[in-house]
Amino acid sequence: MQPLLIGDRRPAGAGTISVIEPALARPMAEVASAGPAELDQAVAEANQAFPDWSGNTAVARAEILFRFSDVVRAHVEELATLEARNVGKPIGDARWEANHVADTLRYYAGAADKFFGETVQGAKAGLDITLRQPLGVVGLIVPWNFPMVIATWKLGPALACGNTVVLKPASLTPLSALRLGELGLEAGLPPGVLNVIPGPGAKIGQQLSAHPDIAKIAFTGETETGRRIMATAAETIKRISLELGGKSPNIIFADVDIEEAAKHACASVFANAGQDCCARARVIVERKVYSKLVEAMAAVATTMRVGDPLDDKTEMGPVISASQRERTENYVALGRQEGARHVCGGERLEGDGYFLRPAIFADARPGMRIVDEEIFGPMVVVIPFDTEAEAVAIANDSIYGLSGSLWTNDLKRGLRVARAVRTGVLSVNSSSSVHLQAPFGGFKQSGLGRELGMHAMEHYTELQNIYFETN
Ligand code: NAD
Repeated sequence: MQPLLIGDRRPAGAGTISVIEPALARPMAEVASAGPAELDQAVAEANQAFPDWSGNTAVARAEILFRFSDVVRAHVEELATLEARNVGKPIGDARWEANHVADTLRYYAGAADKFFGETVQGAKAGLDITLRQPLGVVGLIVPWNFPMVIATWKLGPALACGNTVVLKPASLTPLSALRLGELGLEAGLPPGVLNVIPGPGAKIGQQLSAHPDIAKIAFTGETETGRRIMATAAETIKRISLELGGKSPNIIFADVDIEEAAKHACASVFANAGQDCCARARVIVERKVYSKLVEAMAAVATTMRVGDPLDDKTEMGPVISASQRERTENYVALGRQEGARHVCGGERLEGDGYFLRPAIFADARPGMRIVDEEIFGPMVVVIPFDTEAEAVAIANDSIYGLSGSLWTNDLKRGLRVARAVRTGVLSVNSSSSVHLQAPFGGFKQSGLGRELGMHAMEHYTELQNIYFETN
């Protein structure tokens, strides 16, 4: 059984988590699960490590983070295989993610000594300066869809700014987080700076959010969980940043290459088997090319290679669990009931893993649950529009506002529509959402605060103003 990581100790915890490999629907590992006592110990260790870690120069912290990045880079294949097996994602994607983890640590190592305070020109003659002070112990609560990537988006800026960390991975995917913790120690992170405690969200996550010695919770997961964490954190006025759900629009105008747009439309929703907060799950397409696009998407989806995540040729693996598969299947059934047109997909593959064929529903419209709700599985809806204003209205008709794409060759229209769509991240003629150096996060009920880029550093520091009287 893999133990917890608290300081440099490896306690057994209060229980056991059986980690399932979704492609085989069989256990692949046993991991210790923290109880309240282990949580308290982890917070105490992080608290104890805080004065020395935050008291280091930023340059000294950067050196350790550069080494952490190098150590991760040397273990890319191991981490990628672990993540591909545990999440079920194609190995090529998992390799990209493991490299992205190393890139993220490297970026924030570089950021550590480039994040400045200010001198303030006040009315008095004295010297007025602002300092960026670390917050203290930060609790990181992360989901199962991109376990090590999302952990590192928080870990990088948190550590660079001088905070210490208690990381709680999702119970379905604790393996890469524990391995990252071990690699951090190997790279020279002082014990207690990064503690990793898998455990049940409703208990350990909840307790972490309530803990009086935790200064901030950085959370990624469902909007409903985020709401609960926000309410709990209010008791102790904790700082919070939230990356939550999405139902991202993908607006396609008739003036683009429809075959190409169809390929992107499929890739941007079926990657990670649709379990992606940025999945462009609502394709909103100009009526003139609507039938052509639906046909082209169907051609792509029905020929997608769904199968073994460890096979280099695989384009889509299984979903994470039996219940996630059932959830998607329920939405496929609902799509038919609601009167949308089932174009293809939604069937199980032969065998034991949690595989589903990618599903497309056409003739959908806002107000249908399959359009409004986040499915988080390999299913996409296609909605026609006639005017630019209608496209924008449909795109914005959502409680979410995380990301989106829009496809047009008309530059002015591209700029006009991009500015009108209410999402934190928007790509024009592209389906990428994640740019390490740029801010990432959601409008509306998709979140609070921004990750990545230098903007993330603001969320892991307090601004302190110091005035020196000089008279
Ligand atoms: P989830 O909310 O169920 O769980 C996320 C984490 O929170 C897990 O570690 C879980 O154990 C913990 N948790 C559960 N209940 C808790 C509670 N009451 N208090 C504290 N912690 C608790 O989410 P999930 O199913 O793991 O992930 C899928 C969701 O995450 C989707 O909604 C997806 O859109 C969202 N997501 C968002 C982003 C983003 O950047 N916006 C990225 C990835 C995933």
